[in-house]
Amino acid sequence: MGSILKFLAPTDKKKCKGCGQTKNAEEFYEQRRQCKSCISKQMKEYYQKNREKIIARNSAYYHEYVRTDSAKAKAEQCKL
Ligand SMILES: [Zn+2]
Repeated sequence: MGSILKFLAPTDKKKCKGCGQTKNAEEFYEQRRQCKSCISKQMKEYYQKNREKIIARNSAYYHEYVRTDSAKAKAEQCKL
């Protein structure tokens, strides 16, 4: 049964662990069990839930970068 289906539909299909839909392999990132739309939805949700944390972390990283490498940061600003 499976082999007949494969013969009729040569493109690889995968079942998404997120939405449960069977989609073409090209709808998935390699090594992922969720389709691209599920992953992007998750990323969005993750960002919305953790937005403040992410922003805080990014700005903390930025300040650290400026503090430890201020000459380089200034050089970057001059280019703009
Ligand atoms: Zn999905």
